Amino acid sequence: MASEFEIIRRYFTRPAHTAVLGVGDDSALLVPRKGMTLAMSTDMLLAGRHFFPSADPVKLGHKALAVNLSDLAAMAAEPRWALLAIALPRANERWIARFARGFFRLARRFGTELIGGDTTRGPLGISITVIGEVPRALALRRDAARAGDDVWLSGATGEAALALAHLNGRVKLTGRAREACLARLHTPEPRVKLAIALRGLARSAIDVSDGLLADLGHIARASGVAVELRWEDLPRARAIAECSDAALAKECLVAGGDDYELVFTAPPSKRARILAAGKKAGVRVSAIGAVAAGKPGVRVRDARGRDVSTPRSGFDHFA
Ligand code: ADP
Ligand code: MG
Repeated sequence: MASEFEIIRRYFTRPAHTAVLGVGDDSALLVPRKGMTLAMSTDMLLAGRHFFPSADPVKLGHKALAVNLSDLAAMAAEPRWALLAIALPRANERWIARFARGFFRLARRFGTELIGGDTTRGPLGISITVIGEVPRALALRRDAARAGDDVWLSGATGEAALALAHLNGRVKLTGRAREACLARLHTPEPRVKLAIALRGLARSAIDVSDGLLADLGHIARASGVAVELRWEDLPRARAIAECSDAALAKECLVAGGDDYELVFTAPPSKRARILAAGKKAGVRVSAIGAVAAGKPGVRVRDARGRDVSTPRSGFDHFA
C-alpha cells in the first residue's frame, strides 16, 4: 500500500514551469503576469452527491477540473494554476493513476499547472481550486448586464441533464443521442477559448451549472435587470429535439444543470464580432434573448408572446 507521500510524489507531482514554487513545500509561490488580476474559484465534488462512486476515474479527473475551469471561463480569466484536495477511501493506485491521467490531460490542454493540494483518507471527494488571470477591466462579472443587451448562449443546454434522467431511469436514450448526452455529462468542455475571445465584447457572463434559468437569474438579480428569452431561439441539441418525452426535454433545456456552457450579455453593436469569436473558438453562439429594465428575473416567451417559463427553475442543494 502506497503512503500518502508516495501517492503525492507518484501521481500529483509535476515540475512547475510557471509557478515560482509548486508541489512539495508548505505553500506554492506565484507571481501574476504584469497587468493581470487573479481570478480564483473552488468547486467540490462528492461521491454519491455529485458523481456515482463507480464513476470512471479518468472522466472524473477531467470533470473535476473542467467544472472549475468553467468558472474561470465565466469571468473571461485564463487558467494558470490549480490546487487539488482529494479524500480517498483507500490507496487504490490504479484508480489514482487513472484519475490523474484525466486531470492532467485536461490541465495540459488549458495550460494549467498543479501547484499543490492535500491528500487524505476519507469518503471519496475532490475539491479543486483554480487560479487564473484576467486584466481587471475585462473580467466578465454577473453584475454588469444592461438594459438593451442581447443574451447569448454557447453550444446548447440540456444534454447533461438528459443523460442524468437516462441514468436515473426516467427516459431511455439509445445510439448517438445516448453517447452525446453521456459525454456532455461526464466530460464537459470548459469554454475557455470562447471566454477569452469575448473579452471587451461581452458585458456580463455566467456558466450554466445549475440550469439556464437559474444561472441567468443570478445575472438578472446582480445586475438589477429583467431578462427575456425567446423560446424558439433556444438552441436544441439533437437528443433534446428528438426526445420522446417533450416535457422532460423542455425541463432539461431551461432548467437542467451540468452543461457548463457560457451564457453572456453584450450590446447589439457587438453581434458580428461575437459570431466571429464563436467561430474562432470553434463553438456555436446563439442570440437567445434580451435584457430590459424592470423587475429582476428571467422569463421565456414564445413567438406568440405566451410565457412558457417552467416553475422548476434550477438545481438547489438545499431545496
Ligand atoms: P502539509 O502537511 O504542509 O499540508 P502535505 O504533506 O499535505 O503538506 O503536502 C505536501 C505537499 O504536497 C504540499 O506542497 C502540498 O501542496 C502537496 N500536495 C498534497 N496533496 C496534493 C495533491 N493531491 N495534489 C497536488 N499536490 C498535493
Ligand atoms: Mg496537507
